[in-house]
Amino acid sequence: MKGKEHNLDLRVSDVKQYQYCPRVVYYQYVMPVDKAVTYKMEKGKAAQEDLEELEQRRKLRAYGLSEGKRRFNWWVHSRDLGLSGKLDMAIETGDAIYPVDFKFTREPPRKNHVYQLAGYALILEDTERRPVTKGFIYLIPEKDAFVFDLTEEIKAECLNTLEQIRDMIRAERFPDPPSRRAKCVDCEYQNYCRDIW
Ligand code: SF4
Repeated sequence: MKGKEHNLDLRVSDVKQYQYCPRVVYYQYVMPVDKAVTYKMEKGKAAQEDLEELEQRRKLRAYGLSEGKRRFNWWVHSRDLGLSGKLDMAIETGDAIYPVDFKFTREPPRKNHVYQLAGYALILEDTERRPVTKGFIYLIPEKDAFVFDLTEEIKAECLNTLEQIRDMIRAERFPDPPSRRAKCVDCEYQNYCRDIW
């Protein structure tokens, strides 16, 4: 897929959010609105800054790796994929790169978080020309890292989601809400989804 074949650049976080609720992405691209900053978001940002300091000293054992170089807040962009994003951290070894996403939650990662890792993997494989077959999600409160296989199937699903997002934006199609309404409770866009309250 070449950059000139699509002209709609997306962010890796769009994939995660679209999987959570497509309306979140709709509000960002089709009908931009102000979102409320939640306590959870502010707390997560502060905790992440502390974590970067800690990570500098932490051993790579938490990731099951014996060696590697850490890189923080790395902006990555693939022109061919029309995709960019800021990696919380990447671990580079001689022959591989591992994306790491930090999360301020005790809940185990969900599928949409794995798609996000797959988005980073696709960019890194394109720009760094190294295989990205695994990634980590580090839960800050738990001080624990989950490892995920980033298979070709997950990467293909991620690419498919990107195309669905582009279709939605081009058609300016307002999506249905998620079937699990519990997702709406903490949502920063709930003021704009009057049809569900
Ligand atoms: S309030 Fe619910 S339907 Fe609306 S954007 Fe948030 S999660 Fe989606």
